Amino acid sequence: MPHRCPTCQERELDTLATLPYVRGFLIAYQIGTKKFIGCRPCVRKSIFKEVGLSAVVGWFSITALIINPFLLVYGVFRGAVLSPDPAAVRKALAEAGLPPDDAGVDIVHIAYGLAAAMIAADGKIERDEVSAAIRIGATLFEGFEADALLRLLQRPKDLPDPVGLAGVLAQVLDEPQKLAVYRYLEAIAGADGEVSADEAALLQCVHSRLALDPQLVAA
Ligand SMILES: [Zn+2]
Repeated sequence: MPHRCPTCQERELDTLATLPYVRGFLIAYQIGTKKFIGCRPCVRKSIFKEVGLSAVVGWFSITALIINPFLLVYGVFRGAVLSPDPAAVRKALAEAGLPPDDAGVDIVHIAYGLAAAMIAADGKIERDEVSAAIRIGATLFEGFEADALLRLLQRPKDLPDPVGLAGVLAQVLDEPQKLAVYRYLEAIAGADGEVSADEAALLQCVHSRLALDPQLVAA
């Protein structure tokens, strides 16, 4: 059975898109990509929302000033030509541990996929985060293999974004499994002694997309 869109949870999950963006900080700038997975209306909406944001905040360095118009045009174009791409969706989900028919979902593979997606979400793969993910993963999941996680982190572009992935996992996992992977992400984020604002915001999005029972998590 095909998965449903992680955003609306109604229409079929049939496409994904990668969108480059630039943010300037006076003399420095940052280029990154955002990934969206879902039904076409939801992905298109996410792309145009991102383009709108870039139109406001994508200008604040000389380089960003030069690059941003191209990225804005690309974003509008990308949103306009969005077509179904079930093969790419299947590939991204399989990479994250979800076989096409949901047969034999293995919680350890899900943990690798979600942890790798979260570690790669900010565009940089930090060694401390990776070693924390390995250390904590080995204590939480039976049969956890560091190599499997490291393999995923070698090609983070193949993974879906963690929030979209969480929305799909909500359809597949039972409550204890959802809680187990969420606790894992929480532990990785807190491994360096503090959870940054970005990490907290990401955890909050993942939590809500997993549709976890709020009382279970507060415990
Ligand atoms: Zn949707």
